[in-house]
Amino acid sequence: MTPTKNSAENSFRPIVGIDLGTTNSAAAYIHKQKPKMLTLKNGERLMPSVVLLNQNGQIIAGEEARNALVAMPERTKAAVKRSMGEKITFSMGDQAYTPEELSAFILKEIKRSVDKELGEGDKEAVITVPAYFTNAQRQAVKKAGELAGFVVERIINEPTAAALAYGLQQGDEDKHILVYDLGGGTFDVSIVELMGGIMEVKASAGNNQLGGEDFDWLLVDWLADKVVAEHGTDPREDIRGKARLKEEAEKIKKDLSFQSSVDVSVPVITVKNNAPVGLDCTIQREEFVSLITPLLDETKEKLSHVLEDAGLAPGDVDEILLVGGSTKIPQVQQLITSFFNKQPKTDINPDEAVALGAAVQAGIKSGAFSDNGLIVTDVAPFSMGIAVLSAQPGNVGKPGAFHAIIPRNTTIPVTRTERYTTTSHNQPGVEIEIYQGENKWVKDNYFLNEFLLEGLPLKPAGEEAVDVTFRYNLNGILEVSAKSVSTGAEMSVTIEDALDRSSEEAFYDSLAKVEAAFQPEEHEDASDEELNLFTPLENDNQEEGRERPDSLQDLIKEADEWKRRFTKELENRDGETEKQINAVINRLAAAAEEKNTEVLNEAIESAIDLAVDLEL
Ligand code: AMP
Repeated sequence: MTPTKNSAENSFRPIVGIDLGTTNSAAAYIHKQKPKMLTLKNGERLMPSVVLLNQNGQIIAGEEARNALVAMPERTKAAVKRSMGEKITFSMGDQAYTPEELSAFILKEIKRSVDKELGEGDKEAVITVPAYFTNAQRQAVKKAGELAGFVVERIINEPTAAALAYGLQQGDEDKHILVYDLGGGTFDVSIVELMGGIMEVKASAGNNQLGGEDFDWLLVDWLADKVVAEHGTDPREDIRGKARLKEEAEKIKKDLSFQSSVDVSVPVITVKNNAPVGLDCTIQREEFVSLITPLLDETKEKLSHVLEDAGLAPGDVDEILLVGGSTKIPQVQQLITSFFNKQPKTDINPDEAVALGAAVQAGIKSGAFSDNGLIVTDVAPFSMGIAVLSAQPGNVGKPGAFHAIIPRNTTIPVTRTERYTTTSHNQPGVEIEIYQGENKWVKDNYFLNEFLLEGLPLKPAGEEAVDVTFRYNLNGILEVSAKSVSTGAEMSVTIEDALDRSSEEAFYDSLAKVEAAFQPEEHEDASDEELNLFTPLENDNQEEGRERPDSLQDLIKEADEWKRRFTKELENRDGETEKQINAVINRLAAAAEEKNTEVLNEAIESAIDLAVDLEL
């Protein structure tokens, strides 16, 4: 039964496209034949990819978690995408979570918004990943989606998604599109070819450890060096000071995209000898640009690399599409313009292109665009192959050489078969060891799986042949089979849960953990005060956090210092903020009057909270 065009949107299980980003995540779905951004928590289109374990032992994802990064670094986790596929856990409070579980919390929060907008019930999802993600990383993302309660329909590359959003808007004129995606934590560049209604990624390159976060850290060092020079104390050694500087750095970086210089004024970064240490300085855009130039140069090298892989010259690129928040930096746009001698397209919001494109892919899958005729293919981001003996004419080869069956950048889905022969006399079987990577020796590549094909007829070396077939699909799932040519006996393995979901049991354990910790909706709108975001924790390491002066005199001095800073700040504030500041000043004054250490401590704590809230 073929669904009619109109029934398509109504009768299918809803499919959403999700951009699970390092810094922010976003989602979109098809509405009236067009991709539409989903309204997420707090009415925003982007949700910070940050997770907080609050003091009630419940997980909160999004803006509230991001706001707690400075005050509660030990209870929050950001940029988890960088660790996807790694077999590690992150401690948060008294709990430990895997990268998949942490990502599942973000996706669960998105699912809550999806359910609100599209109704309760099962939802399918297309989730995007950087083109350079390995099989294990893709599987980790798939698992995170499943843990969040989505049926994960497909994992697609981010540049492909962006190009899809682009391609759909531009009709199907033939062209080469370059997608330059510089986000919070990853950089990808891809050449997408749109030809005769077929959209194909010709080549991808990138670095999954390069992005806006790195720019922030370079600025953190710049700011911290100033503090060291001025006050002789390094704020990076204070866990909260470091987090505060990081937050400040991101703000400065963003402002520098629109201003040629930024005045930095932070009254409290850390504490030295019981007195707050702040920073006042000015940074010019040129200074920031010189900090990030080596990293931008690296992206330029990747541009050359990807063009070479696709067999194109810069002049062959018809359109340049910018994706990712970091492409808002004017220097990035200049780099592209001078490299290609052409302006990049700006009609797609770089923050939204990936989610919109993922929704387009979801729409293609659901049949919502049955008359669109767009066909999508992709490329294998890595070579995949097996361990063999190295070829050494006249000699027995060395074991452990890598032989690629699907070379990097092969258009997928793809099936390739290669024939191999036995290497010793009366060899009863062959071990198929599967690897991913670009190196000559398997020890330098990435091990995926292995299996044994037994029962080969006993024959002299080289006389028994085995066909090894690799099938790689658009979800990044690899099936490998080995077949004895003489007997037809066959063994195969599917590498989809590659390195992590070692057992269903482990998956269900994680699922139970994620379900139990995720905060139920009724508490969602609880105020910061109720969530107790900024109160010191039982297991809070006070030594790493703010040093507390213990004598009454010191506390009064600290309270006075805060009063002075807030009184100065009143000059720049009005309305509600002015009231909040006055309340804190009065509280500090009353506490100093009362001369009670506990009351003073509480007043100072509230001053710090407000300073953090106002991003002073
Ligand atoms: P994404 O991963 O695409 O959400 O990109 C997030 C990154 O973009 C973060 O590192 C942000 O700090 C950065 N970003 C967002 N807006 C701007 C801006 N106006 N100027 C510079 N960087 C930005």
